[in-house]
Amino acid sequence: TQEKLALTIANRAKHAGSFRLGAVAAEAEELLDDLRQHPDASRVSSAGSYRRRKEIVRDLDFIVATKAPEEVTEFFVRHALVESVIARGATKTSVRLHSGISADLRVVSTAEYPFALGYFTGSKEHNIVLRNRALQRGWTLNEYRLSPVETETKKKKPLREIPRVRDETELYRALDLDFIPPELRENSGEIEAAAEGRLPRLLEPENLRGTFHCHTTASDGRNSLEEMAAAAQDLGLQYLGIADHSRSSIQAGGMDLARLRTQVAAIRKLNETFDDFRLFAGVECDILRDGSLDFDDETLGELDYVVASVHSAFQLPEAEMTKRIIRAISNPQVTFLAHPTGRLLLSREAYALDVPAIIEAAAETGTWIEINAAPRRLDLDWRWWPLAKEKGVRCVINPDAHGVEKLQELWFGVGVARKGWLTRDDVMNCLPLGKIESALAQKRAR
Ligand SMILES: [Zn+2]
Ligand SMILES: [Zn+2]
Repeated sequence: TQEKLALTIANRAKHAGSFRLGAVAAEAEELLDDLRQHPDASRVSSAGSYRRRKEIVRDLDFIVATKAPEEVTEFFVRHALVESVIARGATKTSVRLHSGISADLRVVSTAEYPFALGYFTGSKEHNIVLRNRALQRGWTLNEYRLSPVETETKKKKPLREIPRVRDETELYRALDLDFIPPELRENSGEIEAAAEGRLPRLLEPENLRGTFHCHTTASDGRNSLEEMAAAAQDLGLQYLGIADHSRSSIQAGGMDLARLRTQVAAIRKLNETFDDFRLFAGVECDILRDGSLDFDDETLGELDYVVASVHSAFQLPEAEMTKRIIRAISNPQVTFLAHPTGRLLLSREAYALDVPAIIEAAAETGTWIEINAAPRRLDLDWRWWPLAKEKGVRCVINPDAHGVEKLQELWFGVGVARKGWLTRDDVMNCLPLGKIESALAQKRAR
């Protein structure tokens, strides 16, 4: 434990000033809502890495268009979430919130708003390309406006007249680009795609019809089947998959065969009481050290679906870990691979794994890959999804909820999917009840 403590302290130092998106989202959304209510604020948005839904953010940024910057600034610094004021100026004010994260407010005019919003949303790399596109047209682009390029002697005549820009869509249009959603602004191909009119129509939160991979008191969850089902219905979901831990996950209260069968029976019985809602009976089945599964095929075949997860032997060499997971997902009983890399943001590195090989195997076997939406995981990372999509791998977004209030963390998974360029067609749990059943059966049929 001495060693563990030292590691914890080292980790904390390494990650000082970094926050998980999920740790600051509630504060960010509350501030946004309250700024939007302010009578002097005509337009309000977040900006920065929070708006781009990066998994780790270092500060929060807010942009407000207003004719009364003093009043809006005063409202901001007096907000209940603000712990202290770091600096207060005419256009920029920095505060520290109770969570410890700093938040910058920028107050601008309505005319400046789209430019400030674009500039402070970033990323830097994305903005550099935008500025170059402006230069090619004889303009300079900054956080306030588009203006003609000036030379030392006289104003050079702009190559093209500067169009009117009232919002971000018109800003991109001025540069001959389709509007680029903030999540894609990482300079990883989005500008080329926007120039050619081939940006995908990204997944929206309301496209999700249900979700899988949730826990109940049958293993390490805090709520009953009934409570989880009610919470899912409250969120407007049509179905919820229950996947409690299997017997090898002793520390998580994993179920033995008898308890698994009791739970399946309880789910089947509960389903008789629903009209337009369904629980699916699954299990989060441990992938054992050699890649075999914690229950035999016959047992797994009694379930509606099977989640395969690594919860042990994290230190295997990369080749062995890769082989282990490929063996597991090659079992036709397995529906999807959960939290594929095992990372815990800001606390535990991913285990050594050949992710492209896993993606290849998932494509070959028709196994879905999870976006685990729990904000400490957000695994598989958004950076891998364009490759997975190209290979034809299907995605499933799950909260891995251990309590009713955690079901809403699906929202973070949607952010990851959008950053990964995914559409509703790429995400299995966009399928409605009536279609999802055959999709579940399909993997087994392969
Ligand atoms: Zn798990
Ligand atoms: Zn789980």
